[in-house]
Amino acid sequence: VREQPRLPDTPQPMSRPLKVTHGERVLDATSGVTKLDLVRYYAAVANRMLPHLQGRPCALLRAPEGVGGALFFQRHGGPGRAPELTELDPALWPGHAALLSVDHADALVAAAQWNAIEFHTWNAPARHMDRPDRMVFDLDPGEGTIWPQVQEGALLVRTLLEELRLACWLKTSGGKGLHVVVPIVPRWPHEVVKALSKAMVQHLARTLPSRFVARSGPANRVGRIFVDYLRNGHAATTVAAFSARARPGLGVSMPVAWDDLASLRSGAHWTVQTAREHLSFQSVDPWADYARTPQALDDAMAAMGLRP
Ligand code: ATP
Ligand code: MN
Ligand code: MN
Repeated sequence: VREQPRLPDTPQPMSRPLKVTHGERVLDATSGVTKLDLVRYYAAVANRMLPHLQGRPCALLRAPEGVGGALFFQRHGGPGRAPELTELDPALWPGHAALLSVDHADALVAAAQWNAIEFHTWNAPARHMDRPDRMVFDLDPGEGTIWPQVQEGALLVRTLLEELRLACWLKTSGGKGLHVVVPIVPRWPHEVVKALSKAMVQHLARTLPSRFVARSGPANRVGRIFVDYLRNGHAATTVAAFSARARPGLGVSMPVAWDDLASLRSGAHWTVQTAREHLSFQSVDPWADYARTPQALDDAMAAMGLRP
């Protein structure tokens, strides 16, 4: 067992103070969490969250009136943008305005001041936009599914990945489901990674049709889990680890050890109100090896009958 340092549980110092406007505004009637609470949450988890954000195009879900009000999915800068956010080179996505990234604690907190609740990242970092460094399986429970089916579904996805000799990491979505993430060598374009994930999901749905469905759409999903591979397409995003969700209760997307899967009660097991306490008791980062484990896909593609 490798010795691991105790995790930092103190907030990363901000380089300058930030003025929070309307800090008293309640963002979520269910929990009573205010805008200032959310800003403080992001300041507190910045150390843990930033590795999942830095250098990666990021879309913000902004909710100026909180969870019950209008939500804006903001992928680009534009007037009024928090200046702490990085505007990436517009050439990275021809035909589109500059994408944003969140590269330091000031930017994370400024985004929250700018009414961002959720942070969604691309699968590829800006320095190699056409080569994703992760493959995501988004487990979406259909109507009529019970939570143990979602837990079992995640284990089955992991089993298939293990058969393909791919290690994977688990996080709650902060909403209804779970996300299984495979760090990969950035050698294949989005379409290839998407094709592999699609082949895997179709295989699961063929062999276990009572549990999985490979086609999107609520009617197809009743009582079953849709494993969403569409998160792997170009320009698709997935909510970042430690992001809050603009949903009642303000769940957060939390990295989880596979051994702790059985003890989860939902995809929103942790919230903005409970996440910090959980992290303060955690002595080992369940995702410590994630960034150190980029994996090649050649063998998995061959095993799934795809040409690398
Ligand atoms: P849950 O566990 O409840 O499914 P989730 O984050 O997985 O939570 P999904 O509905 O499965 O939610 O996934 C929605 C995906 O679509 C997210 O990954 C997000 O990045 C992306 N998305 C959400 N809203 C928009 C939008 N307005 N424009 C583009 N992409 C969006
Ligand atoms: Mn989902
Ligand atoms: Mn989905």
